[in-house]
This record gives sequence, structure tokens and C-alpha cells, in this order.
Amino acid sequence: MQVTFHGVRGSVPVSGAEFSTYGGHTTCLEIRTPEIQIIVDAGSGFQNVTIADDGPVILVFSHFHHDHIQGLAFNVDLLRQNREIFVTSGLCGPHIVKDHLQNYFHGAYFPIDLIGLKHQLHFVEFTEMPQLFRGVLDCHTMPLNHPGGCAAYRFGAGGSHVSTLFDNEFEPDQRTELQDFVADASLVVWDGMFLDEEMPSRRGWGHSSIEEGVNFLQQLRGNTGSAKLAITHHAPSRTDQQIDALADTLLTSGSFFARENQKLTI
Ligand SMILES: [Zn+2]
Ligand SMILES: [Zn+2]
Repeated sequence: MQVTFHGVRGSVPVSGAEFSTYGGHTTCLEIRTPEIQIIVDAGSGFQNVTIADDGPVILVFSHFHHDHIQGLAFNVDLLRQNREIFVTSGLCGPHIVKDHLQNYFHGAYFPIDLIGLKHQLHFVEFTEMPQLFRGVLDCHTMPLNHPGGCAAYRFGAGGSHVSTLFDNEFEPDQRTELQDFVADASLVVWDGMFLDEEMPSRRGWGHSSIEEGVNFLQQLRGNTGSAKLAITHHAPSRTDQQIDALADTLLTSGSFFARENQKLTI
């Protein structure tokens, strides 16, 4: 299983020399196995995903805040290819997924009827996925703590799995359920938008701190061993230099700040 971070920024894309190492694109994560391609969220990083033409493609949304859908219209392969793409979310049913995307790319805000024109987008219930991809993909979801809701995912194939926990405002009473959900994960992707010192003024915004992620991993490793934790959804103001300094002071073994275009084989 190969995991590629196409966008690791939260809220809004950023550009400039001070963001060139970690990247400025918003959330998009690609998971490839020999049989299937899964793309989690279509933030601005989605424009750099090469849509696979050798197997099923699933586009799964954690939720529909704009930093997770704004790139949908800008993937050249999506516009060129005439092949079926399954679109789903653990957060809501297929008609609501379609409605949200159609509303976002409404003619008042966007020049073409993207969803209406893209007949190859096949909207499906997340609960259909295990039947549709039996033997190819093992997938699960659970709700996270985020304004308007958000779905965590666990995708497994070939004996390894990755869990995505974005966007989520971590609460201590989530710990046991989240630990169970990511148990035996090779990789956990964590929403570390803030620092502990920033949290008091940002309660209710729906994001966790970097320190909470490191702590979560330490307790998880105590239970199950070898998981790695990728911290992502970086605050748009956080420069490369600041992230590097935080890596030196806050991270412990197994945790790292995800970078745009970073590929991991798990
Ligand atoms: Zn977000
Ligand atoms: Zn959000």
C-alpha cells in the first residue's frame, strides 16, 4: 500500500518561499494498492493526483468544508477521463454528497456545472463499499468531533492499513474509541492544526493540537507497537521554519509532519 500526501494544509491554500518544504495545498491523500486507488478528500492538492486507469477509483470525503472539496474541479485527469469514479462519504448518503458538491460548484460561484456534466461520477453509500470491493479493500468509518460532522476512515489492504482522523477536535473521552479504531494501524493521519497553547482561543473550531497527536501516538504505541503518526492539516500561517522548529521540540519517535508530495510505502 502506497500513501501520498497531495495536500497537507488546513483551511486555505498558501504559497510562497516560506511554505515550499511542507507545501501549500489543502487536504488530499491518495492510497494505492495494486488493485485500487482511494483518494481521501479533494482539497486543492487533488489537482496533482494522477487518476488511475488500471482499476477502480474511489473518491471519499471526510466532510464538505471548502478546504476538502475546493480542488475537485481542477484535476485534469478527472476532466479528461471518461471512466467511472465512485464517490462516497461515511458522513452522509450519496444524494447529500452530490447536493453538497453541486451547491459548492453552483453557477453563482463556478462557471461550469461540474457535477451535472461528470456523468462518470458514481455516487454510492459508504456501506456499499465492502460489497463492491470485497477481497480488495477493507474499509470502516466512525464519526469525529468537528462542526457539521466529519468521518474518520480506516482502509486496509494486503495486511496493512491507514487511518485518517481529520478533521477532529480531540476530546479525552474519544481516546479509547479512536485507539480501537486505529488498532494495528501502520499509519495514522492526525489533524494537528494547532498547538496546545493555541487551543484555549480556538475551542469549538474542530481541530486538535500537535501535542495531542504525539501523546495519542505514545499511548497507542504502548498498546499496539509500531504505528506511525503523520501530522497534517497544518495551520495556513505555519511556515516551514516554524514547523521544523516544532519538529525539534515536540515530536517523538514515530511522529512526523506530513509534507506535500511525500510518499510512504506501508
Ligand atoms: Zn479542514
Ligand atoms: Zn473541516
